[in-house]
Amino acid sequence: MTMNDEPLSHFRPAQGPGDWAEVPVHAYKQEAGVPFKDITRRVLFSSPELAGELRYFEMAPGGYSTLERHDHVHAVLILRGRGHCLVGSEVRAVAPNDLVYIPSMTWHQFRATEGEPLGFLCLVNAERDKPQLPTPEERAALERDPAIAKFLAE
Ligand code: MN
Repeated sequence: MTMNDEPLSHFRPAQGPGDWAEVPVHAYKQEAGVPFKDITRRVLFSSPELAGELRYFEMAPGGYSTLERHDHVHAVLILRGRGHCLVGSEVRAVAPNDLVYIPSMTWHQFRATEGEPLGFLCLVNAERDKPQLPTPEERAALERDPAIAKFLAE
């Protein structure tokens, strides 16, 4: 759980695309041995008075998030760039202003298109379970779908 100790400023102006005053840039994850590439995390809203937390993730061109699933859901709004997203058995292109909902225990991954970053807002429960990675068998099952195999190989 990420909770800031200091109260949030009422106004934190944008300083550029994917950049806000008083919002530090963090590593995507702290865990070692979890696959991902060229992706950062910013917590935009987090307060004990909120049951949720709003984060901003940004992948450099060709970057990707971890292929994972968990009990908690994600509510995503694409803010900048282009990429592709796997949700369950479906791979879709995503672009600014698209909404993506990731249900509980559904495999998901975001990948930025080569040559463009991909930035998105992601709302989650402040208290949430730890992501699960696919076993080799679960990954092989996903890759039986040619579209998913192509997406995972990008
Ligand atoms: Mn996730």
